[in-house]
Amino acid sequence: MAEKVTAYRFDRIDETLSQLNREDCAIIAGGTDVMVLHKSRRGVPPKFSKPIVFIDHLSELKQVYQTDKDLHIGACCTYTELLEHPLIPTPIKSAIKTIAAPAIRNRGTVGGNICNASPAGDMLPLLYVYNAKVLLRSVNGDRFVAISDFIQGPRRIQRLHNEIVTEIILPSVLEEGTHVIFEKVGNRNADAIAKVSFAGFMRINKERIEDIRFAFGAVGPTMIRSREIEKKLVGKTLPLADAEIDTIVAEFDKIIRPIDDQRSTAVYRKTVALNLLRYFLSLKQ
Ligand SMILES: Cc1cc2nc3c(=O)[nH]c(=O)nc-3n(C[C@H](O)[C@H](O)[C@H](O)COP(=O)(O)OP(=O)(O)OC[C@H]3O[C@@H](n4cnc5c(N)ncnc54)[C@H](O)[C@@H]3O)c2cc1C
Repeated sequence: MAEKVTAYRFDRIDETLSQLNREDCAIIAGGTDVMVLHKSRRGVPPKFSKPIVFIDHLSELKQVYQTDKDLHIGACCTYTELLEHPLIPTPIKSAIKTIAAPAIRNRGTVGGNICNASPAGDMLPLLYVYNAKVLLRSVNGDRFVAISDFIQGPRRIQRLHNEIVTEIILPSVLEEGTHVIFEKVGNRNADAIAKVSFAGFMRINKERIEDIRFAFGAVGPTMIRSREIEKKLVGKTLPLADAEIDTIVAEFDKIIRPIDDQRSTAVYRKTVALNLLRYFLSLKQ
């Protein structure tokens, strides 16, 4: 017989936060990761060891708005909603189009992708290169955490049990002169988990690189990013010389250490990751 589970669904975020403060609950947004994680046998409802609290209907978590040059994305915006929103940058829309199939995109949320903290989460490489910040709210107030600090390892995040991720903030995302790409390699163009993913960000001023960032997905426990390597390219003139590109590729060769698993081999992952980096650095901006 199916076990009973206590489920909460409050109309307001403050009621939800009070409940989370009273009791450790499993948060469910779209449920597309949670339901898979807790599934039992076919035909048997998923098992939860603690009460669940639904948050995906809360309007405070579904806003997209701009303040100055920053873009604020509500954690419970679904992929479909973001695809349709005029403020969402094209690279993010391109990444979303590679995620799952429309049925999952109608349920899955950006906040869920971050909090699930999968090494293959498709929103993560871009959020890393946009220097995204995560806004967490609890009864004690708000706090901001850089995405690279928030995600600590596979399924490990810096969240207290009484906190909800309410927004993802992309600083200066709407600034002119930036060139951003997202590439994902999987078995198919969509509806496939990434074997490797890559995001590149470059801001150029009069042929010179003012800022440059790279993040690799699915080739380590979390996204791979190195500010030290990035700094070596700041101030360089485009197009980069072959030798300059070789140096950067060689630096990442040392720090990218993928694994073999059911989706791909470590050798394939590393080769493709470095090819994607080389491709980005060779683009005529
Ligand atoms: C068939 C299928 C295909 C998929 N394909 C892809 C794919 O191609 N690429 C990809 O990246 N992912 C894929 N996924 C994974 C999943 O759809 C995404 O990670 C999605 O973004 C999760 O969002 P959600 O709202 O469903 O999260 P949920 O399942 O509701 O939650 C995920 C985790 O985050 C926590 N959480 C959620 N929201 C918050 C919040 N606001 N504050 C605090 N904690 C929160 C939950 O407690 C849980 O631990 C796929 C899943 C399925 C089932």
